[in-house]
Amino acid sequence: KAKHEGRNRWIFYQQGMAEKIIQRRELENELREAIDAEQLRLVYQPRYDVKSSNITAVEALVRWEHPRFGTIMPDQFIPLAEETGLIGRISGWVLLSACRETSENLPGMSVSVNVSASEFQDEGLFKRIKKALDMSGLASSRLEIEVTESLMLIDPVKTLKLMNQIRSLGVKFLIDDFGTGYSSLNYLRDYPFDGIKIDKSFIMSVNDSSLAMQVVQNMIGLGKAYDMEVTAEGVETEEQLEQLKKLECDVIQGYYIGKPMTVKQLQQLKINSEKNR
Ligand code: C2E
Ligand code: MG
Ligand code: MG
Ligand code: MG
Repeated sequence: KAKHEGRNRWIFYQQGMAEKIIQRRELENELREAIDAEQLRLVYQPRYDVKSSNITAVEALVRWEHPRFGTIMPDQFIPLAEETGLIGRISGWVLLSACRETSENLPGMSVSVNVSASEFQDEGLFKRIKKALDMSGLASSRLEIEVTESLMLIDPVKTLKLMNQIRSLGVKFLIDDFGTGYSSLNYLRDYPFDGIKIDKSFIMSVNDSSLAMQVVQNMIGLGKAYDMEVTAEGVETEEQLEQLKKLECDVIQGYYIGKPMTVKQLQQLKINSEKNR
């Protein structure tokens, strides 16, 4: 696996400009086929609820099993999908697959799905979400949509209308990578979000800097002031977990709880963590 990733990196970054352009076009064509060829798959990262000491939710993260390059990570093909208009089809697949797998194999758990800001340009997104819920039978209250702060940089009237339409289904919205965007904090007041996910860059240093602690404490306070559920992303150590519990963070996500994994591995992790309590 590490070998594959190393190879990808070489292919994506070390070649000349002309080769890169050809490669890009090839990759675009291959990405177009990837869905039908069943080369996409989802992994799930556990989200640990502090109050109930339980894994109550997962985040679905997409992977592309490329026949020659091996596993390609989302950062290396989602931007391409956004630029080429393929994102809608991928998102449709991700939404339906995440809802299906959760409904069939993860009883009682919620699932969050990442949606690109570019998907808020038209109403296709509403249809894809509705279809995923209808076809999977998943209760809408168990689906959450993660968006980044870049969403607040596009047409607010259009965005709000679509958000409210989707929320009327019973679906929730989370702000991903909170604190890394360029938008004004007023959006917390003006847009209907249910939770924030504090970006891992803030969590990384909570164990060795009291300033970082204070910053995170204030971010948690800000989220709570707006009645939102607060998640910490990128929690990698027990010390970070303990600090975040002290700050009354609601949900913990990160390698310390679990890396993104298959549904089978997740079921096993949940069984083990329940045994150990
Ligand atoms: P994200 O939504 O912020 O997802 C969290 C990323 O941080 C994941 O990387 C995850 O593996 C990684 N991560 C989680 N815990 C830790 C930790 O403790 N330490 C460290 N160092 N990293 C951690 P991944 O899976 O490579 O995803 C990268 C990004 O790709 C995601 O960031 C999301 O923006 C995007 N993405 C993933 N799946 C989809 C999708 O289905 N649709 C769209 N539009 N974007 C997606
Ligand atoms: Mg996310
Ligand atoms: Mg994030
Ligand atoms: Mg991200």
